Amino acid sequence: MSHNLIPIAVAEGDGIGPEIMGATLQILKEAGAKLEYHPVEIGEKVYLRGQPAGIDPGTWEVLRHTKAFLKAPITTPQGGGFKSLNVTVRTSLGLYANVRPCVAYYPFVETRYPGMDVVIIRENEEDLYTGIEYRLSQDVYHAMKVITRTGCERIVRYAFEYAVANNRKKVTCFSKDNILKLTDGTFHKVFDEISKEYPSIVPEHWIVDIGAAKLADTPTNFDVIVMANLYGDILSDVAAQIAGSVGLAGSANIGQFGAMFEAIHGSAPRRAGQNLANPSGLLLAAIMMLNHLGDFDTATRIHNAWLKTIEDGIHTYDIFKENTSKQKVGTKEFAAAVVRHLGQLPQKLKPAVHANAQHKHKAVIKASDEQKELTGVDVFVEWGKGLDELRQGLEAAAEGLKLVMIGNRGVKVWPNTMAETNTVDLWRCRFESKEKEKTIKHQQVAELLTRLAKQGFDFASIENLYHYDGKPFYTVSQDQQ
Ligand code: NAD
Repeated sequence: MSHNLIPIAVAEGDGIGPEIMGATLQILKEAGAKLEYHPVEIGEKVYLRGQPAGIDPGTWEVLRHTKAFLKAPITTPQGGGFKSLNVTVRTSLGLYANVRPCVAYYPFVETRYPGMDVVIIRENEEDLYTGIEYRLSQDVYHAMKVITRTGCERIVRYAFEYAVANNRKKVTCFSKDNILKLTDGTFHKVFDEISKEYPSIVPEHWIVDIGAAKLADTPTNFDVIVMANLYGDILSDVAAQIAGSVGLAGSANIGQFGAMFEAIHGSAPRRAGQNLANPSGLLLAAIMMLNHLGDFDTATRIHNAWLKTIEDGIHTYDIFKENTSKQKVGTKEFAAAVVRHLGQLPQKLKPAVHANAQHKHKAVIKASDEQKELTGVDVFVEWGKGLDELRQGLEAAAEGLKLVMIGNRGVKVWPNTMAETNTVDLWRCRFESKEKEKTIKHQQVAELLTRLAKQGFDFASIENLYHYDGKPFYTVSQDQQ
């Protein structure tokens, strides 16, 4: 590797991927980016030769030894059994922060929201994307929403550091902590704690449903928004679309030891090989990459050349409009126009200035050492007969423990059964200590399960009930408190 050049991995992907990557690399080279390109193959061909995540084992070494990964979109083959390449790369390389600027380029690209300039920062490794799912009974499927305090601290701190480094004024948190008190509750709580360390930034929180409605209605009221993985996945596409086009947005996936940059759109197979695709999303991702690598001058030069091209009305088909556009061009001609504009500034759109907007991956606060006690267990039992029979069987197996509650899909159905409640074939059966002393032993849980098995109960899963510093950290039904 040359000492003057920064090594990056490059994947041209599938569908329109090779065309938009060709255009992007041409612009990077013409702008004098000091990069050394290491091609890697990912996507459809790799999936079809039997790699379930669409990436060859040897490719990880290249990704590990390069400073960034510039990735074109790939096609996921039809049919089951294929793992998401993006999720695999993000989680395997620890790329915990997904950064997606959603900007309007009014009046040159049609938008309902001139002035929109929102950055969505999405947590990338946790939440429902861990993909931990189970079928627990004939009828019931569970997916696990995994939220860690460490993950929340990392992403929330990243959002505030990003805001400070990029002269942003406000960071908004979206969560659903009115329902998900422990998982989303932790995200919100960590947001409140960390926001206090950044007095120059205005913190704000919205419940995600009304927050999403406000984002779609008045996106100009938002600045930086930080969210857990699933909300961020959905709302970053909404935000990019209402800004103008998903074809214009790039995104960065940042970790402590690596980073991946890509357009947010897919491989658009029907447009492939026709010199039609808009390379802007991937080019804007490449600009984010140059920033990440510290080459602010080249990032600024390319960004301004691109803004000038857009402003001059040189547009690919996806953003071409008779009234505002001047020339409809293909992928290659668009790239050539950006190259021609290198060194120029836009006249009406705000010129880009990339300066040192790097920010540190600050050390994560050590989780506190709370006193943990086992106080009970929820046993999920598949049962197709009546509730009374179930209760009698469970009470007979309880012995040193006490059956305190039976729930079904989150609703308490015993004690105080309501005839109207719809039930399914999986029952959450809660056992706690019989004694005054609340704490129980793991051995008592194991023995309870043995007795249940002997009685022929099919327990599909269990969840231990823990108190931390005397407070319950599991869902407690209203009249149990
Ligand atoms: P898509 O984003 O590929 O296409 C959606 C629409 O946008 C199509 O009409 C397409 O023609 C248009 N479009 C997308 N990018 C464009 C561009 N640069 N220029 C002009 N028009 C553009 O979404 P899809 O059709 O749902 O998915 C196609 C394939 O891409 C699927 O195999 C999917 O799994 C994959 N995909 C990959 C990624 C990724 O690699 N990051 C992301 C999303 C989808």
